Amino acid sequence: MNIGFIGLGNMGGPMAANLAKAGHNVQGFDMADVQIEGVVMAATAAEAAQNADIVFTMLPNGQILRKVAADILPHMSQSAVLADCSTVDVASARAVSEMANDHQVLAIDAPVSGGITGAAQGTLTFMAGGSQAAFDRTLPLLEIMGAKTVHCGESGAGQAAKICNNMILGVSMIATCEAFVLADKLGLDRQKMFDVVSTSSGQSWAMNSYCPVPDVGPQSPADNNYTPGFASSLMLKDLKLSQQAAAEAGATTPMGAHAATAYQEFVEASDTDLDFSAIIHALAAGEVK
Ligand code: NAD
Repeated sequence: MNIGFIGLGNMGGPMAANLAKAGHNVQGFDMADVQIEGVVMAATAAEAAQNADIVFTMLPNGQILRKVAADILPHMSQSAVLADCSTVDVASARAVSEMANDHQVLAIDAPVSGGITGAAQGTLTFMAGGSQAAFDRTLPLLEIMGAKTVHCGESGAGQAAKICNNMILGVSMIATCEAFVLADKLGLDRQKMFDVVSTSSGQSWAMNSYCPVPDVGPQSPADNNYTPGFASSLMLKDLKLSQQAAAEAGATTPMGAHAATAYQEFVEASDTDLDFSAIIHALAAGEVK
């Protein structure tokens, strides 16, 4: 297949490389001067999109996605697919889908979970929103870049699933960190705390798979000086998106709102963008209320 890939950063770079490695003809474009193995670099986004059967985008936010979509859609072939894998607001995902529709281009939002390791290893989880036709056309390529794909519904449903998942993650990470802070004060051994909670009703992915304290549980960023992993700034971005969506949809999400404020305070007070589990230090110091 002829594939365009726009946004070749930490995630997009390895994803595009995996498509090329699988034998597809990939034309890439990024504002930054990057070279990706197997990917032919185009001079502009429009050039990368021209003649492509499918164009992937992996960009920082919805505003940039809207601009890139407006730029490339007039150059795309009719009945080609625009597949956005960035994490963006639901409204932007739906707006881009409508723009694509106006150009007889199919659109799908397919944000990912799995981070840079998943992108490099081709083991991402994709949550997709769009028509069945767009999904069917995109799925064989998502299967190269990922291990699991769920078709969540119409346009925007992939982004909705992504921010709901990450709102749970942000809240449960803070709850897990708070419990360790309290356990420390109560003189409870951290390993014992893990042994109990990871097999009891307080268990979660944050506790069982990504334990926020060192030398307890499986290897996690806590064992590597809180090097991301999943950076706090990205968690903050996703929590803000969840609160924007909640406001637009009229949903009440007080714990999500509190988590967004806590990560905002943590990110603003930090010199380095540590893993999101490092918020445990700010909680222990009473810096996040
Ligand atoms: P990144 O900053 O490494 O990559 C973004 C790339 O887009 C950069 O290379 C930048 O130069 C390029 N870009 C920006 N504006 C552009 C434009 N107008 N035209 C062409 N290229 C442009 O970010 P990333 O970590 O690769 O994340 C990309 C997306 O994936 C984000 O939406 C992020 O929220 C999401 N995401 C990231 C992770 C992660 O662990 N890094 C995990 C899941 C989802």
